[in-house]
Amino acid sequence: MADDKKIGVYLCTDCGIGGALNVDELEKVAKSEFKVPVCKKHPFLCSTEGVQIIKDDLNSGEINKVVIAACSPRVNTDVFNFDPLSYVTERVNLREQVVWVDPKEKDGAEGLQMMAADYLRMGITRITKANTPEPKITDVNRTLLVVGGGVTGLTAALEASKAGYKSVLVEKSSDLGGQAKKMYKVFPTAPPFADLEKPTIETRIQDARKDGNITVHTSTTVSSIEGGPGMYKVTIDKNGTEETFDAGSIVLATGWRPYEASNLGHLGYGKFRNVITNLQMEELVQKNNGKVLRPSDGKPAKNVVFIQCAGQRDEKHIPYCSSVCCNVSLKQARYVREADPDAGAFVIYKDMRTIGLYENFYKVSQDDEGMFLTKGEVLGMTEGPGGNIHVEVDNQLLGRKMKINADLVVLAAGMVSGMVPEGKEVNNLTPEYIGNLIRKETTDGEITEIEPLKLALNLKYRQGPEMPHLKWGFPDSHFICFPYETRRTGIYAAGAVRHPMDAVQSVADATGATLKAIQCLELTAQGRAVHPRTWDRTYPEIRLESCTQCRRCTVECPFGAYDETKDGTPLEYPSRCRRCGVCMGACPQRVISFKDYSVDMISAVLKSIEVPDEGTFILGFVCENDAYPALDMVGLNRIGLNTNFRFIPLRCLGGLNLVWIADALSRGVDGILLLGCKFGDDYQCHYVKGSQMANERLGKVQETLDRLMLEAERVEQVQLSINEWDKLPEILREFSKKIEDIGENPYKGF
Ligand code: SF4
Ligand code: SF4
Repeated sequence: MADDKKIGVYLCTDCGIGGALNVDELEKVAKSEFKVPVCKKHPFLCSTEGVQIIKDDLNSGEINKVVIAACSPRVNTDVFNFDPLSYVTERVNLREQVVWVDPKEKDGAEGLQMMAADYLRMGITRITKANTPEPKITDVNRTLLVVGGGVTGLTAALEASKAGYKSVLVEKSSDLGGQAKKMYKVFPTAPPFADLEKPTIETRIQDARKDGNITVHTSTTVSSIEGGPGMYKVTIDKNGTEETFDAGSIVLATGWRPYEASNLGHLGYGKFRNVITNLQMEELVQKNNGKVLRPSDGKPAKNVVFIQCAGQRDEKHIPYCSSVCCNVSLKQARYVREADPDAGAFVIYKDMRTIGLYENFYKVSQDDEGMFLTKGEVLGMTEGPGGNIHVEVDNQLLGRKMKINADLVVLAAGMVSGMVPEGKEVNNLTPEYIGNLIRKETTDGEITEIEPLKLALNLKYRQGPEMPHLKWGFPDSHFICFPYETRRTGIYAAGAVRHPMDAVQSVADATGATLKAIQCLELTAQGRAVHPRTWDRTYPEIRLESCTQCRRCTVECPFGAYDETKDGTPLEYPSRCRRCGVCMGACPQRVISFKDYSVDMISAVLKSIEVPDEGTFILGFVCENDAYPALDMVGLNRIGLNTNFRFIPLRCLGGLNLVWIADALSRGVDGILLLGCKFGDDYQCHYVKGSQMANERLGKVQETLDRLMLEAERVEQVQLSINEWDKLPEILREFSKKIEDIGENPYKGF
């Protein structure tokens, strides 16, 4: 543990800092107010020579905590990098968020100087309360569990093997290959994207079976997964015989299943014998060795109609686009034409979506005179006496209705994530449907059992046995920044279970997810977090003696990092934790803290600010992932910002503890602005629902404000993404104006 008195403060005067600020005055703040033993100015602190001065002071033992008052903590991270296990480093952002914030508007140099002095006080206070991490280093098992033996799972296992890692591949059916094995041919994967290709899945299966690093279990399901990254205990069930083994991380590759076609009665499915799905078409052509024979009588189909978006992009069925079906229908139209050059294929589409270079495949198909492709809508279907289907179409290209006498109709039915339990509708899944299938919590915190469904993972996690999803059953953790990551650290989703994709994309996806799974193992072995705080070796520590078993932390952790004992005491799994601090904000007892981040620390930081006796003064709590860099962007673009704001970065706004609001207001701060990520369906919170939770907690702030007899409008949350940085000046101006209109905080000056 670093001694909190051995603080060295290093003030850089380059990059405009020395010109805009009175650095001698800042030196006085450090030396007189905080009595730090070392405080040095340097004209170019990030130079080799500047950094060496700091290193020398550390090596001499004179200091063990370093405050760099210079540029943003988001830059020069490699330069100001002192052994984090021995020393604590704090960055005070005098450049981007002080001197580069050109205060054209009013306060001028005086306002900047006050800002700089406050940020220096905040930084020194923060580091005073911070300690070096004591990482939890555990023996890590480096075997990957791969769930699903289709193209994605096979690729994941093969890629892991190439990187030198063993894997256990578990497939519930009796054979490997998944849906890819049903394909007669695959659409072109290489220039000129003109000809169908033979499937390569068999080679992949044989490679996996021969690979000494891969243990394959078919006809096997996962009965349970306990533990966390680096230390999973996996139990599998193979034909009634259970086996348990250890694994370090997991690739979820349970793929897709076709949309339930019995819901497509309006397109003739289940009513007419010669209406089939696209997957049935593959099986039919494969079985008949390339011939397209009708199911009703086995006669060759001469005219085949393909109906695109069958139930897709339709709120009543599948609201999304499955992205592969247009190519699949073009491929199957080719089957029709290759089987019989006189046969015709009619593709009726809403929009033809053949993304990227697949467009060439579309063009080649358009050039085939036996393929008739049109935008249209099916108006009706009837069955003729011989089993033919009369399809009436509103041809939206020709602007007229037309009738097609089809031998066979193929519906482009969509892909449903393998996470969705069989028989469940994708457009009607509640969050707990996948997250809490077995255990449900009542309002008084009781857990009740509900009927279990067939699940892929069967996690023994307090928050439920399966992967939470955002919507439609696709597991996710952050759809913008962290592909593959799920809301269960250590479990990475790849392939069509994650979102609809073809086999080529699935191979790339499997490779990416496997890399993430390996990174997770290796970071866990070093006691480090995974994304987004990969450098972080701290973890939440709970003073259990003061815990009231309220279960807030175990419920609110976005990543299910805590289990709990029967009496509700949290059971910690540091390797599952992403270090967001949401539990810290949730805990009403304030007993959760990190070595370098705590409720007490932030309270002390905000108390270190010198709130002026006059004028509107505002405190901002900002998320470190989006809002803080957005503030940096304002500085980088030298756009004016109000200087009556002080910002405190939080790992996530979900870590907000209401005591900070009370502390700030009772010290005379006039208004509090929370700048956090967007939430809802298009959330961009790096911790999934942290900013949403902050918002929910804010609902309770009224009580605090009532107690202090203050207006509710003094506290406001703004949702902001990083690319909206240019809106910040206006946001701050407006909030400042609003607070001015409300009037000064009556606690000011006390
Ligand atoms: S810090 Fe975040 S991820 Fe870790 S236990 Fe707390 S809420 Fe969960
Ligand atoms: S939130 Fe705090 S008091 Fe409640 S169970 Fe968790 S640690 Fe205990």
